Amino acid sequence: MRKIYFDHSATTPVHPDAAEEMCRCLNSIYGNPSSIHSFGREAKKALEEAREKVARGIGANPAEIVFTSGGTESDRLAIRGAVNSNHARGNHIITSAVEHHAVLDTCRSLESEGFELTVLPVDEYGMVDPGHLARAIKDNTILITIMHTNNEVGTIQPIAEMARIAREKGVVFHTDAVQSMGKIPVDVNDLQVDLLSLSGHKIYAPKGTGALYIRRGTRWKPVDFGGGQERKRRPGTENLPGIVALGKAVEIAAAEMEKEAARLILLRDKIISRILERVPHARLIGHPDMRLPNHASFIFDYIEGESLLFSLDMKGVAASSGSACTSGSLEPSHVLLAMGIPLEKAHGSLRITMGRVNTEEDVGHFIEILPPLVERLREMSPLGFTQGSQKNEADNIYPC
Ligand SMILES: *Cc1c(COP(=O)(O)O)cnc(C)c1O
Repeated sequence: MRKIYFDHSATTPVHPDAAEEMCRCLNSIYGNPSSIHSFGREAKKALEEAREKVARGIGANPAEIVFTSGGTESDRLAIRGAVNSNHARGNHIITSAVEHHAVLDTCRSLESEGFELTVLPVDEYGMVDPGHLARAIKDNTILITIMHTNNEVGTIQPIAEMARIAREKGVVFHTDAVQSMGKIPVDVNDLQVDLLSLSGHKIYAPKGTGALYIRRGTRWKPVDFGGGQERKRRPGTENLPGIVALGKAVEIAAAEMEKEAARLILLRDKIISRILERVPHARLIGHPDMRLPNHASFIFDYIEGESLLFSLDMKGVAASSGSACTSGSLEPSHVLLAMGIPLEKAHGSLRITMGRVNTEEDVGHFIEILPPLVERLREMSPLGFTQGSQKNEADNIYPC
């Protein structure tokens, strides 16, 4: 059976060149980068070369890059470190309702520790309004954390505009750019952010690798202790093979971004137009234009997202859904709900995220098999859909 991987927002395969460099490192460089002998110096050299590659990939200075265990740690380190350094100035944090749990749950935990939290709403496309952000900033605001691109619906936020507002008010600005790298430009000077998170496994490096950019001069203080590594910003012996692979992956992502994004946009737009044409009661969710090149997400009325995922999986297609309706517990995505999508509709979401392994043939195959699958599921559906029923369109009007 033809197998199609359409879940690149969840994770990506390791790029062969990144794997090759990682293996070479595993097999031959085993010194501790902190050791002063030749083995250590060799490891240190590999570490600093990887740091230069990551820095170059986002327009940063190597000294501004801290290696971490992934996007989750980068987010937590960014937020906790900024709060740690700014506590004397205030206790107010601003974030958005569509953040990844790594950000949202870190902010919530700070709230439970006594910090004041403002969660900005989003519009029907999942977009934060910069004007709204400007009005939310108060004298005691110490940190703003808003994601660059959304993993669930693909919306690209106007980060440069919001970071400029933060800068004018002297507030530290963090962005989670985990989904952006390699798909849209990520340049810390264009974006004017103070802190920026990356994850390796979303950009064809291994899982358990990541980086945090900390702009020189940013009010940020370490939160973990135990060693002097990473200029005392993140203690512990470095995951050198993973870091070497991450460096290679960032280098490739930056070099191939323009060409790959153009290729993916064609595939994405074909999926979007064909699916909306061929599947009745289907809607695109997320922003129509300001969206990731590899990202197509839909809501199908009268469909349970998980059933659709199972059916697709049986046909060899791996995708994902914003709903986790397992064993009767209804837990639709906080992102879809924040966009004003009603609970029952949020359960019918499907996310297609493409990557470098996907081809025109994958897309052709997918748009052939999806419409009959949706139709069959609707026929069996307990959600009240009957073929040819004269549904009142007004029942279906919601903002997406
Ligand atoms: C995957 C993801 C993360 C978490 O990264 P890990 O490396 O898996 O910890 C954070 N933010 C976003 C937007 C993500 O998509």
